[in-house]
Amino acid sequence: MRVGVLALQGDAEEHEYAIKRASEELGINVDVIRVKNTEQLSDLNALVIPGGESTTIGSLARRTGLLDRLRGSIINGLPTLGTCAGAIFMAREVRDSVVGETGQPILGVMDIAVVRNAFGRQRDSFETDLSIDGIGTVRAVFIRAPAIIKAWGNARPLAYVKHPKLGNVIAAAQENSMIATVFHPELTTMKIHKYLLEVAMDKQR
Ligand code: GLN
Repeated sequence: MRVGVLALQGDAEEHEYAIKRASEELGINVDVIRVKNTEQLSDLNALVIPGGESTTIGSLARRTGLLDRLRGSIINGLPTLGTCAGAIFMAREVRDSVVGETGQPILGVMDIAVVRNAFGRQRDSFETDLSIDGIGTVRAVFIRAPAIIKAWGNARPLAYVKHPKLGNVIAAAQENSMIATVFHPELTTMKIHKYLLEVAMDKQR
């Protein structure tokens, strides 16, 4: 299998490592491709969009022509995991508590609405155990994390986390072969990457 990691900005390297470890645990052969241009998108079986800064990822994706090509591949069924900024990038609606709709370049492929930086600033980063539907318990690290405040259509919540003001918000969601987490699984666990690889293997059968 060929798994791409979008490497325009953010923690692509940690995801490369997580995919390699996850494929070893599953006993499958995976080539990990760093995706920085449209050519590197061809023949992928799965894709990871890392955390970082969603506005930067969005404007670089637009500049490199990746924005439209990525959107097309994902809509055509490329199994994709977006974490933190990656989840923001995949969401159909992106808001900010201060400016409202942010208007930043996004893929807009997943029926979820997110609020950027919903848990506060860098110093408000935290970690906690989450129970994820179909995946189990994982240690989850939240770094300037967004909150998924709504999922509709075929998008379904996989996990919730308590927000100090908003009550329970969605921490992970899935729509067909798209998975979004507002936390950083690559820092603590292989379980979510394994799940992505399993979704990709199911597609090949
Ligand atoms: N706050 C960042 C954003 O809005 C996301 C942070 C992260 O990916 N750790 O894009």
